[in-house]
Amino acid sequence: MSIVTEKWLSHEFEYSNIVRGRAYFKSGRVITYNEEWLPNGLSIQSIVKGTKLYKVNIHFDDLNDLDSGFYHCSCPQCEEWFECKHIVAVLYHHMSLQ
Ligand SMILES: [Zn+2]
Repeated sequence: MSIVTEKWLSHEFEYSNIVRGRAYFKSGRVITYNEEWLPNGLSIQSIVKGTKLYKVNIHFDDLNDLDSGFYHCSCPQCEEWFECKHIVAVLYHHMSLQ
């Protein structure tokens, strides 16, 4: 089961992050990936290779409500904009497993 779709991504993230995040995923920059299914939600921890290695955390409290999503990446861009290509790369990886 996955609630994450490309259509949802396109609403949720900046276009530039989607384009670059997809390229990151395709070029194998998602180094480690762990997902844990919760009673109603999903929790993902990952490491993505950018300029440095960045830690990505993604959490959905309730998969029926995508607004419950929380994202964090340790890169400088995420600190300022609360989203980045690394998070998108991890979500593409997640979709590829479904
Ligand atoms: Zn990032």
